[in-house]
Amino acid sequence: MEILDGKKISNQIKEEITVEVAQMKERGEKVPHLAAVLVGNDGASLTYVGSKVRSCKKIGFESTLIHLPEETTEEDLLKQVNQLNNDPAIDGYIIQLPLPKHIDEEKVLMAVDPNKDVDGFHPTNFGKMALDMETFISATPFGIMELLKRYKVDTEGKHTVVIGRSHIVGRPISILMSQKGNPGNSTVTLAHSRTKNLKELTLQADIVISALGVPKFLKADMVKQGVTIIDVGITRVPDDTKEKGYYITGDVDYEEVSKKASHITPVPGGVGPMTIAMLLKNTLLARERHS
Ligand code: NAD
Repeated sequence: MEILDGKKISNQIKEEITVEVAQMKERGEKVPHLAAVLVGNDGASLTYVGSKVRSCKKIGFESTLIHLPEETTEEDLLKQVNQLNNDPAIDGYIIQLPLPKHIDEEKVLMAVDPNKDVDGFHPTNFGKMALDMETFISATPFGIMELLKRYKVDTEGKHTVVIGRSHIVGRPISILMSQKGNPGNSTVTLAHSRTKNLKELTLQADIVISALGVPKFLKADMVKQGVTIIDVGITRVPDDTKEKGYYITGDVDYEEVSKKASHITPVPGGVGPMTIAMLLKNTLLARERHS
């Protein structure tokens, strides 16, 4: 069994980007600049955004955190988006989700300039991804593809079962895995909350990509020997014995499933760190495309 070490690979990717940024600086070029917009004080969002901004600093990017109060109106947020669209200093930016309930998420995401949409959430970018065109691929599916590539996991002709059909993980990864290429060329089944015979499907899977957000959902009796497991789930489980008051777990019963798997991503340390690395990669691509 081989652990797909997202922490290790994400560090490699960040080192590669650091070298490129240093070269840009030497040539007197502008370095990539990522902005992040956070509305409100959601604990997980604060952690994610903080770690994205810290990563930027470490690899030599410029970064700007725009932290707006919970009561920010949709109109004011749209003004902020417009400002970022028109600011030549900003190569790419992200709107950290979820947004407060009184703001129409779709409306805000639609307002982002697709050329600066390093999260790849804008329909223009999602559409281009689905049509194999050059674009920004959402960081999490992009990270999964990169992890499979760097570990040379064979996906061609394999049966991949994706659990979860969200716009940011399940849906795009199901498209990417079915596309021509390596990784890719997989036969994909996309399962979701209305799927009736999930265990029957996962038992046939050569690769399971789980993105539903239910701790220990995928059990050993649901997979076959030699399966590759990509666990996207990140759930904070309350635990008073931990300093933070919670621990992080994935969708997969790692202890038991890892005994049957040929490859598996741990949580934490699997897909999570890859997501941040690929956001940085997209920001570098944005800089290159803008110059
Ligand atoms: P989501 O929460 O928007 O949707 C969950 C999906 O799971 C839905 O499509 C639903 O149909 C499906 N689902 C729910 N119950 C099911 C069941 N019993 N059987 C089959 N399918 C079922 O999804 P999301 O935003 O993609 O998040 C999923 C998980 O991935 C969460 O834990 C989230 O925190 C995590 N996540 C991790 C990263 C990362 O960087 N590692 C990035 C994004 C999301």
